[in-house]
Amino acid sequence: MRRFVQRSPRLWRTNNWCASSSVRNMSTTTSTVLYALTVAPTSARPGPEDALQKSHHAKSGFRNPWDSFRDVGPKNAAQMFRRRFNGKGNIPDTTGPTVPVQKPEFLPSRDTPNLRATWLGHACYYVEFPSGLRVLFDPVFEERCGPFNTLGPKRFTKAPCQVKDIPVIDAVVISHNHYDHLSYKTVTEVAKRHPNCHFFVPLGNKPWFASAGIHSVTELDWWDENDITMSPSEGKGVEVEAVGEAASIAADIKARISCLPCQHVSARGPFDKYQTLWSSWAIESGGKKLYFAGDTGYKRVNELPDGEDYDDPKHNFPVCPAFKQVGEFRGPFDLGLIPIGAYAPRFIWSAAHAHPHDSVNIFQDTKCKQALGMHWGTWVLTEEDVLEPPEQLKIALKKHDIPEKGVFDILNIGESREF
Ligand SMILES: [Zn+2]
Repeated sequence: MRRFVQRSPRLWRTNNWCASSSVRNMSTTTSTVLYALTVAPTSARPGPEDALQKSHHAKSGFRNPWDSFRDVGPKNAAQMFRRRFNGKGNIPDTTGPTVPVQKPEFLPSRDTPNLRATWLGHACYYVEFPSGLRVLFDPVFEERCGPFNTLGPKRFTKAPCQVKDIPVIDAVVISHNHYDHLSYKTVTEVAKRHPNCHFFVPLGNKPWFASAGIHSVTELDWWDENDITMSPSEGKGVEVEAVGEAASIAADIKARISCLPCQHVSARGPFDKYQTLWSSWAIESGGKKLYFAGDTGYKRVNELPDGEDYDDPKHNFPVCPAFKQVGEFRGPFDLGLIPIGAYAPRFIWSAAHAHPHDSVNIFQDTKCKQALGMHWGTWVLTEEDVLEPPEQLKIALKKHDIPEKGVFDILNIGESREF
């Protein structure tokens, strides 16, 4: 077991958070407790047979071991360029108003009866667990997603907040190393402001973090699981400072984190394609289970004539089997955070990105009880109109006989929902 404790303990003054306009003012217990986070591998729980064979490990790097995948890379970008040149490609109009952006509100203490998720744009979610655990997924707060934060697409919706506005970050979870999911500037700022924060990444990403000066990193392979324990570090179970109505004794915060498969690729430059792993994640804490699907495709489609339905079962396009396995061996989940954007045209992007119809299949396969959409509304990455993903989601839900509202929902950027 490894122990990660900051060198010069600094107290988190939750009562100070209330002074911030971005924080909901609640008259519940506020406390300042410093936690030390420890991570330990758990004894193996049953998983699918093929997980033991490590068929996703390639001679060099990693691979998607399914018929539902085909290579995605520069040739797709060239295809997109040709379509634009020929006048076939759609250029999405980003003239506002598009997706509403609001200032997020974070809870003023770790006391939370429910699981609470806040969408911070694209694939970034901040999740407050009822145990008190606070996790940030795929944070990128820069204007552009690309090398040096200067190249690459520019936001068409504003970032709802910055790292400095988030009061507590115990863990950061990264799905893969593409620039719209992993930002040097953001993660180094999180590490600076939250020295106790621990980073969870898929296999092969640890050296990048080490070169960024971040060493509290756990690297996991698909189906690996770790137990997280956060213990009050200033005296056992004793609250350091408490104000409010019912000062409570701080107890250990426990969680289990699982690295799980998904269908995608990785690269930060021209020479490192597939060299680091991509993944989805599950976290169970305080009696609630969350699934974060990361960035993923669901099936591989071929080009069809205009007007043909890519989701008609008669085409029999190969489907990624990993999501049913996730549902069977790690589900059900109280909440799924599932990508719905960056899919058009589908015959180019289907292997790496989910169309909302795929998203609903992922939702059902993984046995999520409810879901929220992500991976849209922030940067134009593909050809669909910027407000199309939620419209397509409604159509897909209807096709699956799922109510349009209250099951798989869309938030405003900066909005929170409790489960
Ligand atoms: Zn990606």
